[in-house]
Amino acid sequence: MGNNSGYKYVIIGNSAAAVGTVEGIRRIDTAGSILIISDEPHHTYGRPLISYLLLGKTDRQRMKYRPDDFYEKNGVTTKLGVAVTKINPDEHTVETADGETIAYEKLMVSTGSNPFVPPMDGLDAVANKFTFQNLDSALALGEAITSESDVLIIGAGLIGLKCAEGIIDRVRSVTFVDMAPKVLPSILEDDAAAIIKAQLEAVGINFYLGDSVGSFDGNVATLKNGGEKLTFDVLVLAVGVRPSIALVKDAGGACGRAITVDSRSATSLPDVYAAGDCTESRDAVTGDTKVMAILPNAYLQGETAGINMAGVNYAFEKLIPCNAIGFFGKHILSAGSYTGDVYFTNDGTNYRKLFYSDNRLNGFILIGDKHPKDGEIPAYDRAGIYTRIIRERIPLDSLDFELIRDRPGLAAFSRAARGELLGGEQ
Ligand SMILES: Cc1cc2nc3c(=O)[nH]c(=O)nc-3n(C[C@H](O)[C@H](O)[C@H](O)COP(=O)(O)OP(=O)(O)OC[C@H]3O[C@@H](n4cnc5c(N)ncnc54)[C@H](O)[C@@H]3O)c2cc1C
Repeated sequence: MGNNSGYKYVIIGNSAAAVGTVEGIRRIDTAGSILIISDEPHHTYGRPLISYLLLGKTDRQRMKYRPDDFYEKNGVTTKLGVAVTKINPDEHTVETADGETIAYEKLMVSTGSNPFVPPMDGLDAVANKFTFQNLDSALALGEAITSESDVLIIGAGLIGLKCAEGIIDRVRSVTFVDMAPKVLPSILEDDAAAIIKAQLEAVGINFYLGDSVGSFDGNVATLKNGGEKLTFDVLVLAVGVRPSIALVKDAGGACGRAITVDSRSATSLPDVYAAGDCTESRDAVTGDTKVMAILPNAYLQGETAGINMAGVNYAFEKLIPCNAIGFFGKHILSAGSYTGDVYFTNDGTNYRKLFYSDNRLNGFILIGDKHPKDGEIPAYDRAGIYTRIIRERIPLDSLDFELIRDRPGLAAFSRAARGELLGGEQ
């Protein structure tokens, strides 16, 4: 198949999980026809880079997630700028907004998430309002701001802070309102969040935390608890996102908060797989089912799906939440779950918190300067080793934890564990 009658593989979405799927398929099946359908009209790009585009630290060419010839080299047909409106699992077809019905043998749903905008009095009448979720929303925001703009951002999570970083040098002021009492509430503990907030305040960003907007009156937002009236020119809604699950849910597929997938990235529908931000899966540390909406997980799940879609039975069971974020001169790395005993050091610049129990490392939060002073080793240095220890559930008594907790290094591992970490190389 590979024409109007259908394709062997159809992929909905064109981002990290979709690219992982293509590359997973092509590891096994170099010939089967692949069609990518996405409602965004663009070549695949790194979504986390949209703030750097506004900042001028990258451009449209450099933010591409794969080179220009990616589709051609992988034998992928694209149908971009068109949404899929329905999956018919019994017929093995999808319907698109331009009226086509396309058959598949195996289907990937990698639809990501969409911004959640809570109802707020008067919001409809606010003229200059934006979300910060994709390339088009970033470009639109970039057009709207000037050096005279006072920007109000609702939501001080990853997306809101990334947005602030992208625009801070191009506007007069940035003010945050968030219901949570701290920044990055889903990623950081209180003390780490306080460090980041202080860093942001130092560059002139204002915060109203533990509060929310009660109502808008034109370009004035009135806060619910404090009653302050905040005047703004541009509003950014970064309250949160919801996994885009409608296609699978409407087709009868199992969903919780997100699409339910197993360790092969298969959904409950026959021959339908799902990966990335639209899915929930098992956290390798806690065993809980959760949405782990980060780019590396989207790619890995997509790759896993691709291998299975191409006929090889392969399970990936090592997903953990992790984040690598750079903000205003600080670098934050976090992974796993913040449970168990705590090992903590903080010299004012380098913050290191490790969480462990039952002879296993469960998680970490590391913060250091993006550009450390000469000779200084930042807390996040070689953090990939911690990530591997968590992911692989390596027993702490098989390594020198006292050595490694202050600085991850291979010397702390037994020869066998070093081999495991390095995939056989010692
Ligand atoms: C501002 C920002 C900063 C971020 N920073 C980081 C970071 O520092 N580190 C990190 O790991 N992650 C970060 N993320 C998260 C990361 O971008 C996502 O985890 C990743 O992009 C998920 O990939 P995905 O393929 O699952 O979905 P997405 O990238 O969301 O792509 C899904 C695609 O499917 C399309 N689609 C949806 N429905 C349909 C339909 N019905 N028909 C056709 N197409 C459809 C969407 O338009 C979209 O193009 C950030 C995200 C944002 C927005």
